[in-house]
Amino acid sequence: MTHKHIQSVRGMKDYLPEEIKLWQKIEKIIIQILHSYGYNEIRLPIVEPTNLFYRVIGQLTDVVEKEMYTFDDRQGESLTLRPEGTSGCVRAGIESGLLYNQEQRWWYYGPMFRRERPQKGRYRQFHQIGVESFGLSGANIEVELIMLASRWWRRLGIMDNLQLELNTLGSFDSRQRYRTSLVTFLKKHLSFLDVDSIRRIDSNPLRILESKNQQVQMILREAPLLSEYLDQESQEHFSKLCNVLDKMNINYIINPFLVRGLDYYNSTVFEWVSYDLGSQGTVCAGGRYDQLVKELGGYTTPAVGFAMGMERLVLIVKAINSQWSSLVNHDKIDIYLVSSPHVKREALILAEQIRDYMPQIKLRTHLGSGNFKKQFSYANKYGARIALILGAVEVEHHRVIIKILHTGEQKIVDQKEVPNFVSQLLV
Ligand code: ATP
Ligand code: MG
Repeated sequence: MTHKHIQSVRGMKDYLPEEIKLWQKIEKIIIQILHSYGYNEIRLPIVEPTNLFYRVIGQLTDVVEKEMYTFDDRQGESLTLRPEGTSGCVRAGIESGLLYNQEQRWWYYGPMFRRERPQKGRYRQFHQIGVESFGLSGANIEVELIMLASRWWRRLGIMDNLQLELNTLGSFDSRQRYRTSLVTFLKKHLSFLDVDSIRRIDSNPLRILESKNQQVQMILREAPLLSEYLDQESQEHFSKLCNVLDKMNINYIINPFLVRGLDYYNSTVFEWVSYDLGSQGTVCAGGRYDQLVKELGGYTTPAVGFAMGMERLVLIVKAINSQWSSLVNHDKIDIYLVSSPHVKREALILAEQIRDYMPQIKLRTHLGSGNFKKQFSYANKYGARIALILGAVEVEHHRVIIKILHTGEQKIVDQKEVPNFVSQLLV
């Protein structure tokens, strides 16, 4: 009988320990910057009632129409693996009462699920770090969010590889008026549209503006512009945003075709795009969604946020900043504890004592088989600077041998003295 290996689900990757070192380094910088702006973490369920996404994202979007992992639980309730984080944030905010009459600045981090065709930078399980702010309606909070993300890019050394694109969708009413005239225009030019665009004409026509099809792009140059339909308030809001960004020396372009895929946005929308990732170029994207809290049953609450895709960010950091990957390989341990076969238990005890005294130290205990020579080769492999050697004689006298690996120098010391010696050696 042959056994087939069980493989991971298509589009859902493993993140192996070597890869995770780079992730952790990036996560640390990102989270430190979030904290420095006073944003608080919120952790939310991975599974939500399917209805939540129908109502928030919109029934006629790609995500809801084609991409969700939806299943019935044993009582027949329809549940969905979250395809994005804003829905859960808003649900939780309303449910907890934390959005009522107060200002919140939150971030979340975790896996999201969309059943898309897997490609480089596009997976069925991927990770987003998202930032959401509730209770602030002015352009200033948008500036703050843009500054925060820009600070990420600067600290990660990829600022020059990302372009900030901005647009404004206007109010709900102005968007409806624009939508009508766009649909009229598109219906006059049906023969230029591809299948996807035709499918979207009645359901989600604004999304056609983001089409990558060249013929569609060509005809769109003649199409009415959203900016011509904007209400005055949105126009003023948007020019205030641009003014402040100019003053703060933030580079951006206005992309009149940027509309975002999800239904809930109004007013300002923005994206950071890398031209190195092909059609998976959007690394981070968001916008304002002032109607959503009310639509989900809360009180009217202005809100704005964005989500950043970690897999795409890691791809860029790896491509741009090669020293990062090598820095990660230098993640060495300090001490390797070598011991003879009969004193493994004593080795474990000694290791615990050292960790009690020196909580920061990275110490790895050799617990497998192998003579001293083999054990030393492991010490080198893990980059240890010091080896501690424990044999039956040392155990009997409560001693241990300290060996400085790069000089070969060694010394017999009392076990109690180890923290003292080690801290001198590792300065
Ligand atoms: P795209 O146009 O590339 O499909 P999107 O508009 O669907 O992106 P959002 O819903 O705005 O993306 O999600 C925010 C970010 O999450 C994206 O900019 C991207 O970095 C990341 N992201 C979205 N979908 C995926 C995916 N399937 N795999 C990896 N990252 C993703
Ligand atoms: Mg998408």
